[in-house]
Amino acid sequence: MSDTTFNDFNISNDIKDAIKDMGFEKPTSIQKMAIPEALEGKDVIGQAQTGTGKTVAFSVPLLEKIFIKDKSPQAIILCPTRELSIQVAGEIEKLSKNMKKLRVLAVYGGQPIGRQIRALKKGVHIIVGTPGRVLDHIDRKTLDLTGIETVVLDEADEMLDMGFREDIEHILRFTPKNRQTLLFSATIPKPIKKITKHYQKDPVHLKIAKKDMVVPQIEQYYFETKDKDKLDVLCRLIDLHDVKLGLVFSNTKRRVDFLVRNLKKRGYSADGIHGDMTQNQRDKVMGKFRNEKINILVATDVAARGIDVPDVEVVFNYDVPNHNDYYVHRIGRTGRAGKTGYAFTLASGRERKILKTIEKHTNTKIKKQKVPTFKEMEKIKDGILLDEIKESVNNDNLKKELFLVESLIEDDCNPIFVAAALLKKIKS
Ligand code: AMP
Repeated sequence: MSDTTFNDFNISNDIKDAIKDMGFEKPTSIQKMAIPEALEGKDVIGQAQTGTGKTVAFSVPLLEKIFIKDKSPQAIILCPTRELSIQVAGEIEKLSKNMKKLRVLAVYGGQPIGRQIRALKKGVHIIVGTPGRVLDHIDRKTLDLTGIETVVLDEADEMLDMGFREDIEHILRFTPKNRQTLLFSATIPKPIKKITKHYQKDPVHLKIAKKDMVVPQIEQYYFETKDKDKLDVLCRLIDLHDVKLGLVFSNTKRRVDFLVRNLKKRGYSADGIHGDMTQNQRDKVMGKFRNEKINILVATDVAARGIDVPDVEVVFNYDVPNHNDYYVHRIGRTGRAGKTGYAFTLASGRERKILKTIEKHTNTKIKKQKVPTFKEMEKIKDGILLDEIKESVNNDNLKKELFLVESLIEDDCNPIFVAAALLKKIKS
């Protein structure tokens, strides 16, 4: 079982090739468990959260069932947020890149409905959307769910928390009774059980082991620091790792504002998102981060729900999260698609205890690291600089530069002093 590959699944070569191109070598636990069951047409309860590969787990089986020539909706995926809807639609587009003419559409509030209606009219096979907007389309008769074969409820617990229960039930009633229903949720509280009882047929309950909660390849470290020193430590770590795209989590809106203000003051290109901002404002900031117009995004847990930024190198926990699951959610934003990511947590005395319980809960090791002093920072940075210079000596075309150096030496400058002066200039 542990050596299962995607080739062991009864799936088309088009999808297998796409998975390979996405850089996934082996299926994750939830994929190993859910894909075969769902391919057999069974209803599934997948107890898995972000970072486990759940999106691929439900998308592959539903894609296998799509009949391209029929241009009416055959699968619908309900998600709690527009960000997650966009993310899921994006993942499905990647998985179906070899399935010509397959159309996926994300529908969510905040986007002009006219655009969505025009896209729906052209024909769409898979709908991904938030319950509110999906219901809106049903009411306007711009979305017909009578041909639906698969329904996915993604992050079902979040959807219920956000008050979507009635909308979801309403939507389910518009879909055929013989549909396949796949439900994914990090937790299965009573209200979720009720939904599964009412709307699923003999579901298989798949729960992944705690140790599989996080897609691995995330190196996790913590730094002991007093609260008042956290800003300094954060800046040092950003400098040291020369972070181009980093996500900083803080527990409160006030601290997000504080951080953004102070990071900007210190010359970092940073911005923040939190729950008090309008969706439009949040989208703008997210857009800047995605296009790398800012390097550091500071966020609260709620605001960061569902955001997907492909290349986050480091997740910083400026505060230790109040909830075990938040930790997993947060660090799941890095180490995507086989890349190594880093999660750095700044923990004050009181917070270290909470971190210990998080370690237990997630069954991972968060290693302690010393906060580098300014002196050590210099040393480390010098080491990095010298490595870069060695690399350039070996690999770059330095013809023009050599010509300039030669002219200095002809003017009686000692070559070693020339190099030292250049280093001084670079570092100043
Ligand atoms: P999800 O839990 O669906 O949000 O997925 C978390 C991350 O894991 C996403 O960035 C996926 O692209 C990535 N992923 C999904 N399946 C695999 C896999 N088999 N191997 C490596 N990464 C994966």
